[in-house]
Amino acid sequence: MVIARSTMESEFIALDKAGEEVEWLRQFVKDIPKWPKHVSAIRIHCNSQSVIVSVSYTIFLQKFPMLLNVPIPNRDESDKLFWKTHDGSLVEFSAKQAWESIRPHASKVDWAEFVWFANAIPRHSFITWLLVKEKLKTQDKMKDWDVVDAYSLLCSLCKLQHDSHNHLFFECKFSLEVWERVKRLIDIPGIGNKWKEIVQQFVPVAKRKVARVIVAKIVFTATVYFVWQERNARLFRGESRNPTQVFNIIFGTVRLKLMSVKFKESPHVHKLKMAWKI
Ligand SMILES: [Zn+2]
Repeated sequence: MVIARSTMESEFIALDKAGEEVEWLRQFVKDIPKWPKHVSAIRIHCNSQSVIVSVSYTIFLQKFPMLLNVPIPNRDESDKLFWKTHDGSLVEFSAKQAWESIRPHASKVDWAEFVWFANAIPRHSFITWLLVKEKLKTQDKMKDWDVVDAYSLLCSLCKLQHDSHNHLFFECKFSLEVWERVKRLIDIPGIGNKWKEIVQQFVPVAKRKVARVIVAKIVFTATVYFVWQERNARLFRGESRNPTQVFNIIFGTVRLKLMSVKFKESPHVHKLKMAWKI
């Protein structure tokens, strides 16, 4: 515990402690592997006039010469704390603002609205996100890792060849059968049978909040999720379902989800509800 003899001293101590914290935080961020190595300077704001004057006579003057240029604040007002965001504006401190300031920022990908959307089922979006990034642990990847016997692996759905992102979604005859049935419930004309093609077809419309686009996104992400789940159940648990059973699970799950979504009534929405037995 430190007892300060004046408010000025306590502010001085606070400034010193803040400096230490900033040093620690910069070092911590630098130590995180793969973090962009340029960690930008962190500015500490101090509005105590007496501290500003005092530090000008100390070592802080050499370290933080900008302190001398800090405008003298209104003494009648009490001190306030602000957080400076990555774009330079001063806001009230919150964990969200701090995270926004230190996280790496990348430009938005054109398929973002297709994978992450308001009515999405999170675990379905997550698997679809891994698919779009081609990060699912498929058998073709295991071959690259030089795993023993990886060459003898066969797709658990058709047992004809090793599986891969392209094979599972939906070149494989099992998953294609499921997708062909599911597709009839999607009202997007000319939708393809290959996942890359499908994603590209969705990109121009993915942002639209109309019923047929929302339904199509929920259906596609659910199909990806349940095909992947079926592949794993066969591979790791020795359990299997036929294409009709997988279709029924997709239908039932999407139907339940749609029952919780509020659509604006229209003849089209009426038709859609009939198709989904809602
Ligand atoms: Zn297959």
